Amino acid sequence: MLKKGFSILSQGSALRDRKKLRVAAAGLVALFVGMTAFGTVQQSENPPIDPQTVVEELALSFGEMAPADQADEVYWREERFVRGDTFTSFLARLGINAKDASTLVRRNGGAQFFRSIGPGMSAQAETNADGDLYLLRLFTTQDRVVGLKRQGDEFVEFEEQIPLTRSVHMATGAISSSLFASTDAAGLPDSIATQVAEIFSGEIDFHRDLRRGDRFAVVYEMYYHGGQPIRSGRVLAAEFVNNGRVYRATWYEDSTGRGSYYTPEGKSLRKAFLRSPLEFSRVTSAFSMRFHPILKQWRQHKGVDYAAPAGTRIRATADGVVEFVGQKNGYGNTVILRHPNGITTLYAHMKGFASGIRRGARVEQGQTIGYVGATGWATGPHLHYEFHVNGVHRNPLKVTMPSSNPIPASEMRAFQEQVRPYLAHLDFLRDVRVASID
Ligand SMILES: [Zn+2]
Repeated sequence: MLKKGFSILSQGSALRDRKKLRVAAAGLVALFVGMTAFGTVQQSENPPIDPQTVVEELALSFGEMAPADQADEVYWREERFVRGDTFTSFLARLGINAKDASTLVRRNGGAQFFRSIGPGMSAQAETNADGDLYLLRLFTTQDRVVGLKRQGDEFVEFEEQIPLTRSVHMATGAISSSLFASTDAAGLPDSIATQVAEIFSGEIDFHRDLRRGDRFAVVYEMYYHGGQPIRSGRVLAAEFVNNGRVYRATWYEDSTGRGSYYTPEGKSLRKAFLRSPLEFSRVTSAFSMRFHPILKQWRQHKGVDYAAPAGTRIRATADGVVEFVGQKNGYGNTVILRHPNGITTLYAHMKGFASGIRRGARVEQGQTIGYVGATGWATGPHLHYEFHVNGVHRNPLKVTMPSSNPIPASEMRAFQEQVRPYLAHLDFLRDVRVASID
């Protein structure tokens, strides 16, 4: 019972690394300290949450599975489905082993879970250390959970109604070694850390720009059932101080229910180009930190190199049209995209191309166009990325990127009213002393 509670509460941190639950327990304490120190900002309709209560109320009526062997460690993972994901790649990211993943796709591919999952949605998996799946689930709406659970060698579908209550949390931390090391220390679920990276993806290249001493603060939703955190929700506001520069973002939903992230002044954070062509994840982030450029000998090196495990998704940094796809001498497997305003981007050394990527095809920003490899002139798996304006090479990290539409003047008052409390939380966090997390 207690073990299960730990596993869920710590889903964002140590468990993702498949460490022992003893380690996770330390993370749990950190989370509670965090909640106590920063307070839990409650929506008015929900009663405040007492961290002690969270520890006591561990029973889950729905989808609960005792592991086959009580001695087994239990791991929870939460991941977001992204554009370009296949069921197989998504299940692998959830920590499910190839055998169970293949059984699921083959026999249960038509299940409600797979019919429901789509880009931007998060799902959770409970496995043992070997990646044997016990339970897979997804909240289709705030109150409805669909999933599959193990029964012997098979998986059976379930679908249930469970009322979730929403509460708003805050966390802050400083970067010591990597974003995830810091978000782990702050008790943040991975899906929240990834959202923060996505929100600022037009401003900050999280693979290359992070500096020791950078800071983040985040205000986000968590959903509870019976006092127990069930899943994370949306980031409502975030601040990132990168190399001394302060970036702030706040979520705003207009009267038609369409939402997006803006600066406190109402400028859109959606940029025409992403800073990084590489998907950001726990794996790629750790990989980048260890990277030492290997192509110094390439004299006229006119690009930016990103080390990443072979197979990591490469995404189009902007909307565009495929101008070239194929082999290109030292570049190996290469894609060139043409964008508006005379801009082209080039992606080299790919292991392979995503399906549908052929000359003349339209691609959207963030769409997967291929996978990291070591083809052509490369001594290890990495992505070589170039950015050209009217045929002239430019450093993509130095170019100012145009933004999408700001909040119209007529909506400014509504905007300010909605985001004021979020920004107040960020102000509060700024005053919280950040403990060293080395
Ligand atoms: Zn290069």
